[in-house]
Amino acid sequence: MQDYQYDISVVVPLFNEEESLPELRAWIERVMNDNGFTYEIIFVNDGSTDGSWKVIEHFAETDEHVHGIKFRRNYGKSPALFCGFRRAAGRVVITMDADLQDSPDEIPELYRMVTEDGYDLVSGYKQKRYDPLSKTIPTKLFNATARKVSGIPNLHDFNCGLKAYRAEVVKNIEVYGEMHRYIPYLAKNAGFSRIGEKVVHHQARKFGKTKFGGLNRFVNGYLDLLSLWFLNSFGLKPMHVFGFLGSLMFFFGFVACIVVGANKLMHLANGVPAPLVTESPYFFIALTLMILGTQLFVAGFLGELISRNAAGRNDYQIEKEV
Ligand code: UDP
Ligand code: MG
Repeated sequence: MQDYQYDISVVVPLFNEEESLPELRAWIERVMNDNGFTYEIIFVNDGSTDGSWKVIEHFAETDEHVHGIKFRRNYGKSPALFCGFRRAAGRVVITMDADLQDSPDEIPELYRMVTEDGYDLVSGYKQKRYDPLSKTIPTKLFNATARKVSGIPNLHDFNCGLKAYRAEVVKNIEVYGEMHRYIPYLAKNAGFSRIGEKVVHHQARKFGKTKFGGLNRFVNGYLDLLSLWFLNSFGLKPMHVFGFLGSLMFFFGFVACIVVGANKLMHLANGVPAPLVTESPYFFIALTLMILGTQLFVAGFLGELISRNAAGRNDYQIEKEV
């Protein structure tokens, strides 16, 4: 049994949320004390330009439960979570947005689901959401796609900020870029397959406004999902996809090439003037497919070279050694 310093680490990424922080902290502490948990709260200040860091510093001075991490600039929610995860020393790690939209009252049940029901990860599900329609409708589409691609059919709300993890999970996944939307998928790819869900209360934003407004997040969101799928399926064996596609294309190109050549020879053998090869569609098919096929093949070799040299090439998830 590993030793943990606390029952719970609460990780809160935040960007310009100074108005919410005092209420959030007081609420978390109330819940922790009512339930007798030992805990820490890690505020990760993601380059806020308001007074958030001053508030956190003040908390940390007066309260041993509060820790703060300050980024020099704004990196995004995923890097903030990553650094919070690295620092967390609790047996269960709970992530929560700083804007008071997620309720700390959910913590005890989330904790119970991880410690007693044996879940690796429990995701909140904002069944009733207090966000504008422009956010909720695209989100439905997003979740439907994510369920299909990730093969986690029971999650309704991948991107919910309120989640609970077994400590082992957060120490063994790498949340980067904007991958915080797909943490359950990252966890599943790392072999943590007991993924559950809990319906959670959601509130309208009290202060400030959302940091994730624009439409481009959906385009980027889908691209990220594609990358994850590719990395998980072929990241360790790029030749299997590129080599296969390349061979397939080259084969059909070669067949087309034979058709063109045979046609020419047949005409010549019969003593009739042969048409120019460039008049045949097979000529162009042969040309395109053979060039593309070769290039895909080369891409496969390059992919293999890169993955042989990647720092994480031998990072396998070892659960136990005796
Ligand atoms: N956040 C962050 N860095 C960013 C953007 C957002 O740490 O670059 C934090 C933000 O302060 C909040 C959480 O991520 O605590 C979720 O953001 P927000 O509430 O704006 O998203 P929404 O709930 O509207 O999806
Ligand atoms: Mg929010």
